[in-house]
Amino acid sequence: MSASAKAVSAADWRADFPALHQSVHGQPLVYLDSAASAQQPAAVIDAVSRYQREDHANVHRGVHTLSHRATEAYEGARDKIRNFINAGSRAEIVLTSGTTEAINLVAQSFCRPRLQAGDKILITHLEHHANIVPWQLVCEQTGAELVVAPINDKGEVELSALLDLIDDKVFLIGIAHVANALGTVCPIEKVIEHARQRGIPVLVDGAQGVPHLNVDVQALGCDFYAFSGHKMFGPTGTGVLYGREELLESMPPWQGGGDMILEVSFDETIYNELPYKFEAGTPNISGVVGLGAAIDYLQAIGMANIASYEQDLHDYMVAELKKVDGIRLIGEARHKASAQSFLLDDIHSHDLGTILDQQGVAIRTGHHCAMPLMQYFGISGTSRASLAFYNNRDDVDRLIAALGKAKAIFG
Ligand code: PLP
Repeated sequence: MSASAKAVSAADWRADFPALHQSVHGQPLVYLDSAASAQQPAAVIDAVSRYQREDHANVHRGVHTLSHRATEAYEGARDKIRNFINAGSRAEIVLTSGTTEAINLVAQSFCRPRLQAGDKILITHLEHHANIVPWQLVCEQTGAELVVAPINDKGEVELSALLDLIDDKVFLIGIAHVANALGTVCPIEKVIEHARQRGIPVLVDGAQGVPHLNVDVQALGCDFYAFSGHKMFGPTGTGVLYGREELLESMPPWQGGGDMILEVSFDETIYNELPYKFEAGTPNISGVVGLGAAIDYLQAIGMANIASYEQDLHDYMVAELKKVDGIRLIGEARHKASAQSFLLDDIHSHDLGTILDQQGVAIRTGHHCAMPLMQYFGISGTSRASLAFYNNRDDVDRLIAALGKAKAIFG
């Protein structure tokens, strides 16, 4: 794409997001918190609204027209998700409430029945709590051990140290595709390659990967890939666990209830086929319909276009932040996507976030659900600006100007 083509497309994309066209505290909104939750395009909002107005009914069991329509829309979204991440089959797409539920499902259904005392779950030091605590729980339940691969001061995973930690006791490796607090793109391809050679399953926490990078689970060769709808411009309360069919097939259900069964008697229950075996109860039908619309929207732009546009903007943001007197960047990995954490002078990040909000600039402050990572850097939290393809250089300039004002206020 030429620079002018990029500019035109970015303006068009932004126009598609109603929430971005408002003022906050009398200033046009600059939204730099997409890593926490991304805004939704009108296409998603309209798809959910149309479904609610015209098609809403419960899925799967109904013989009437609305139930058929709801089922078609819901299962159609599953097909879109399969295609979006290039899974081999729709049986491999388990719909969840988010990344958190997807990882807990793997911990409890895949790991818990098989883990033995002395086994290890290997993660890294830059994980979100959702990729730490479910493993701690299952380790407590089974006597297994949680092992943490180190990072360096740039916020990169120390790959060779991680590979050195892989031994016969490692039962599963859990690693972020992109670290939410720092924006580090982790070397998942290398980790998966080494793990596969040793027959160790890998779960990728893709919550921050899918919104920014092209993800092909077959090319990656991972065993599980988890992500959330609300970070990829879809509704909250939706998410996906991709799992290799062979593994999902071998796992017991995680929760019991309606829809996950074929037949129930008091003597015996026969479970449903994949992926329904893992989807007990009435799902978030409208949310999943919206997630399908988000995928249509992303595919119309193209993930490669999104990645290259965002890379450019991220580089610009980092270069401009570096010019701010008193800034300390947290996370300077060579491969980054979307997010940049920073500290400014000795201003507490919550104070900084509040002052920026007064100027219409929304950033996230605090520990970003990555407390062990904050402990590594010896800080309690950071300010984090995270980008999506609807942001532009003007947004970055507004961020920088707002930081200047914060400095003036704090003297
Ligand atoms: N993993 C990462 C890397 C995240 O950034 C997040 C959310 O911020 C999660 C997991 C948890 O996602 P959710 O709260 O949607 O389940």
